[in-house]
Amino acid sequence: MSDDYDYDVLVVGCGVFGLSTCLELSKQGHKVLGLDAYPVPSELSAAKDYNKIIRVEYPDELSAKLAVEALRCWENDELYKPYFVKSGRLTLTPGDSTSIRSQYENKSLEILAKLGVTQSFEKLTTPKQVADTISHFKKNNLPAKFNSTYNADCGTGLSADALKAVYERATTSGAQFVFGDDGRAVSIKSNEVRVKSGKIFTAKKIVVTAGASTGLIIPLDNQTKVFGTFVTHIKLTDAEYEKYKDMPIFFSAEYGYFFPPDKVDHVIKIGVTTCDAWAEIDHPFEAGNKLRAPRYTVDHPNETFPLGHEKDIKVLLNLVVPELADHELVDSKVCWIADSCDSYFLIDECPYYKDVIVATGDSSHAFKFLPTIGKYISQKVNGALPADLSETWKWRSNPSFDNGANTKSRFPRPHYNLEEIKFIKSKL
Ligand SMILES: Cc1cc2nc3c(=O)[nH]c(=O)nc-3n(C[C@H](O)[C@H](O)[C@H](O)COP(=O)(O)OP(=O)(O)OC[C@H]3O[C@@H](n4cnc5c(N)ncnc54)[C@H](O)[C@@H]3O)c2cc1C
Repeated sequence: MSDDYDYDVLVVGCGVFGLSTCLELSKQGHKVLGLDAYPVPSELSAAKDYNKIIRVEYPDELSAKLAVEALRCWENDELYKPYFVKSGRLTLTPGDSTSIRSQYENKSLEILAKLGVTQSFEKLTTPKQVADTISHFKKNNLPAKFNSTYNADCGTGLSADALKAVYERATTSGAQFVFGDDGRAVSIKSNEVRVKSGKIFTAKKIVVTAGASTGLIIPLDNQTKVFGTFVTHIKLTDAEYEKYKDMPIFFSAEYGYFFPPDKVDHVIKIGVTTCDAWAEIDHPFEAGNKLRAPRYTVDHPNETFPLGHEKDIKVLLNLVVPELADHELVDSKVCWIADSCDSYFLIDECPYYKDVIVATGDSSHAFKFLPTIGKYISQKVNGALPADLSETWKWRSNPSFDNGANTKSRFPRPHYNLEEIKFIKSKL
């Protein structure tokens, strides 16, 4: 691109969006430097986790098409295949078919049918049907009648390991990386990133992909709303692991969700949907205002799992796998999300600085796009993002929240100020 700068492109934040971008741009021959506060997988990345859901069910055509495109990479690309397990997923929806969540699921299936995407969907509406279809959930205590969809083709992505693989591939492709205080951006302006150690890096273009922390280093004008969700784990005995190792994901927007156990550590990751969290700081760009910002467990190790909500995990497990309901919770943490107003990403120039592109707004569903999102971000860098995508992912004027498909489909729940609640003592 240009000899006047240290790099063609600086990518600030090496999580899902950032690593995918580093890989794509380096493959295209750009001189790329990825900066991050931590080595991959970063302690701050929302994807530093055992696993994530790789689904194609979306209630809008664009997201479904993008998810199918990504799924094909998870299934077929040598880089991603080792980190994709076709685990299946049972999705429980409320008995009331007019509920927003039920509409979300039904619309998603309609869209896949319209796109001609075949996955193995089965409607299960009684505890016996679930027990007969999924042997691991044989002893379930689901209510007499409910709605659920079993998709045997849904995937589990081994997220932290996949991030490492993309990082290694990007390095092989020529991307360079700097981590720690030399990689932690503190301020950004056109063509220049200043990091915590005081160093300054320059580039023709800068891409800011710092996830929920993006608004701390560039002004975002309310483009995203940051909140934290609680994640916890249980550790299985060897016998339990053998019994449950091939179970599908269970997902309920009402009760929570859990994954098959990890093959090495034999732990089940459990996501909480019954409460969430927020924290705020003095606004870095608006004197006198506050900004919702992440408050990472790595910096606040006692902020683990909200006291009083352990029972929600028992209820969830007791509903589906009662035998596992009495396990102690381990390795609990708060995981941070940057919601956009409509659940679509934000991939656009930052209006405050020339040649600075911001890519964020993950809205808690972006891990699955690890194989493909870098292609679109690099199109933006190269001035080649198709017009329809540019329009969908543009910087919004006066965004109004709670209308995004993901946001609307969440159940009402308490939102805790992290500074005001008590936490369980969770072992590592
Ligand atoms: C509990 C939970 C469950 C989820 N489940 C799913 C799922 O099942 N399926 C799915 O598809 N998606 C899921 N997601 C969403 C997915 O994890 C995120 O959408 C994705 O990680 C967002 O990618 P990102 O690159 O925007 O941010 P991140 O992955 O969070 O990466 C941001 C990076 O920026 C770095 N950074 C931050 N500040 C700085 C700084 N000042 N300087 C330099 N670097 C910095 C961080 O260290 C980090 O590496 C889930 C998210 C959560 C929290």
